[in-house]
Amino acid sequence: MEVAADMARFDLAVVNGTLVIPFVGTLSGDVAARDGTIVQIADAIDPADAEVVIDARGKLVFPGAVDPHVHIGIYRPVTADAESETTSSLVGGVTTVVSYFRTGSHYLNKTGLYHEILPEVLDAVRGHAYTDYGFHIAVMTSAQVDEVDWMVGEMGIGSFKYYMFYKGLNLAASSTDAAAYTMSDVYDLGHLYRYMQAVSAASRKYGQAGRISLSIHCEHAEIIRTMIDEINAERASGLEAYSRARPPFQERLAIAEATLLADQTACPINLLHLSSAEALAGGIKARRDYDGLDIQLETTLHHLALTYDTAHGIESGKVNPPIRGQDDIEALWRGIFRGDLNQVVSDHACCQTEIKQGGTWEAQPGFGGTGLLYPVMVSEGYHKRGLPLQRVAELISAQPARNFGLYPRKGTIAVGADADLAIVDPNEEGPVTVDRCLSAQDHTPFDGFPIKGWPTHTIRGGQLMFEHGKVVGKPDGRFLKRPLALHEGRG
Ligand SMILES: [Zn+2]
Repeated sequence: MEVAADMARFDLAVVNGTLVIPFVGTLSGDVAARDGTIVQIADAIDPADAEVVIDARGKLVFPGAVDPHVHIGIYRPVTADAESETTSSLVGGVTTVVSYFRTGSHYLNKTGLYHEILPEVLDAVRGHAYTDYGFHIAVMTSAQVDEVDWMVGEMGIGSFKYYMFYKGLNLAASSTDAAAYTMSDVYDLGHLYRYMQAVSAASRKYGQAGRISLSIHCEHAEIIRTMIDEINAERASGLEAYSRARPPFQERLAIAEATLLADQTACPINLLHLSSAEALAGGIKARRDYDGLDIQLETTLHHLALTYDTAHGIESGKVNPPIRGQDDIEALWRGIFRGDLNQVVSDHACCQTEIKQGGTWEAQPGFGGTGLLYPVMVSEGYHKRGLPLQRVAELISAQPARNFGLYPRKGTIAVGADADLAIVDPNEEGPVTVDRCLSAQDHTPFDGFPIKGWPTHTIRGGQLMFEHGKVVGKPDGRFLKRPLALHEGRG
């Protein structure tokens, strides 16, 4: 039978590639998509049956990465940041982002109820994201605690955040105090306890449809304050001094406090961006101590790849928790190989050089990395350390999707899943450059970092979005109400 081009059975087909399936392995096969969904995986799909055909010979076909730790709009207007930074996501093979939002300083610089502010945030992003997207919300005030059930059940916010180190925040002598920064009535362990009770209740009510959780930035303000005094007395500065001012043991102390409260309240938690051997050990110990408590452990690309000597100084590489040394990098990789760390993220925050001035204490923390998710994990994990390809896909796609209520529509290659794919040339070599990342950020601490394994194509919902360094799709990514199964009415 002859099939005319306009009668194509498939919108898109990827042929001749090696599929990388999380929890399964690699296999040869072709994939076809129609109406945004994967509809066929077969030994061979006839290219004549598809409107768009991508030949992936010699390449790896991964599920699109799910980057569950980005900060859209933290330092720049939300709409512009959504456009430019999800563009950068496509470079890294990322097709879904879950972004943090909170009231207080930065972002929209205001406080109030999420009943008013959340619709404003969603309006600002709608029609401006190149990836599909969701939000984690940080409950900053006691009035917002009462909004948790509504946020999960009505608004599709399946995960929340708490910042341990905002309590008693006074990070530099001239800096803002905690109340002015958080714009909160009370932001301490008492608030966290009530907050965990609310998230735990939402988990019991809605958790059958997908995981509901609280993510925690584990650093300890009181220890940081006294360590900064010590480092200042030495007149030390720079990234190595910054790391000593926020030493690994204070991450571990914050983990000890947070996990005890999580156990008391039976609140599922994610310990974010663990940066050190000590923090990882604290997370593993908490799992042993609190049998039955759901604790997921996260680290970032930069904590797996950069040291305070290689991250181009405070003006580029300042971030919280700080970038550490080579020993901590290797300890984190061992945690990945053992399976203790189960998601790797970018912690992407577009932070221009302009606001990273003023020295070690005054420079703003954070930088981008979403455009490097597959490149760094294929280079540093697969090529350099022999991490199996399916583990790469698990760490940056399947497990984040599971942790945040998106699996299996996101996070795998299967019939019925969204047709989100990252095609990676495992042999394409070239250093990271600012230009290559397609972010609005004018520097990167990864500048010059050698990569072997760049994405050549990124496909989202069956549409080709990114091809050989250029964006070819539109910013029509969808807002994902999580857990997906709850809001789509199927279990
Ligand atoms: Zn972050």
